Amino acid sequence: MHSGLNTSRSKLLRVLILGGTSEASQLITSLKTIPNIEIITSLAGRLTQPKLPSGTVRIGGFGGIEGLTSYLIAEHICAVVDATHPFAAKISKSAEVACDRLDIPLLAFERPPWKPIDKWINVPDAHVAASLIDKSENRVFLSIGRQDIGAFKLCTQAWFLIRTIDPPEDFLPIRCRLILERGPFHLGAEIDMLRKSSINILITKNSGGIATYPKIEAARELGIKVIVINRPKKHSVATISDLGELVQELAKVCELKSLTRSKQGT
Ligand code: NAP
Repeated sequence: MHSGLNTSRSKLLRVLILGGTSEASQLITSLKTIPNIEIITSLAGRLTQPKLPSGTVRIGGFGGIEGLTSYLIAEHICAVVDATHPFAAKISKSAEVACDRLDIPLLAFERPPWKPIDKWINVPDAHVAASLIDKSENRVFLSIGRQDIGAFKLCTQAWFLIRTIDPPEDFLPIRCRLILERGPFHLGAEIDMLRKSSINILITKNSGGIATYPKIEAARELGIKVIVINRPKKHSVATISDLGELVQELAKVCELKSLTRSKQGT
């Protein structure tokens, strides 16, 4: 684990990965092919038992844009990879502003969103989703992580099956059952779960990725309505949705940085 600020400049090129996703962890393995780099992964510290990626890891917020700017300077970071979740908009904005200020290259990975299936309704946020479903005939599988669960706390008519990794801190709707589970999930088990609880609506974020996609496939198999919360705008940086391509782009950035350093004799 990495703690405190390192004021000595490393001979290696230090790359900060903003993580918290399975792709960020996969990336670390692939980046080992790039010569002369040192990787630090940053996690927000939301989960009580995070899956720690290999290598150096720091945990906790930076303290907004100012905090991240100071960190990038103090740690001599020469490139940042934003591999955070598509719904983690605040940290991505901080990264965009801090990197822009310091003229540090920022590469952004974003998994492609899921494509609509039948009975698919897009909504802008959890509050709109909550306003659509509070009827006594509705049995809702709420699978949006724990941060936005509070949007449903005033729903009194619908029944909810809620799945999160750690327990939500906000109030839950009164008619609900909470299960604590971490993906990846599998189609057969997802179908069984939706059937057993007689679910007729799935509410999810459009997170993308394969680990939690079986719930969408299960909804399609069972003809269940799917209410999908659209992604927020994270930043204006062009995103890359292929990990191999991202590694290639970062390799180019690092090569340029190495050249500049050797010209400057640093
Ligand atoms: P967020 O709204 O963008 O971030 C809130 C604050 O958490 C940020 O301002 C920052 O604090 C800190 N933070 C977020 N990601 C960080 C990171 N990788 N390293 C250090 N600090 C970080 O993000 P969020 O939606 O709360 O998500 C938190 C983390 O969980 C993200 O890293 C994301 O990849 C992961 N995650 C999120 C979701 C989701 O649905 N939102 C799902 C799966 C995983 P400071 O301002 O103090 O720097």
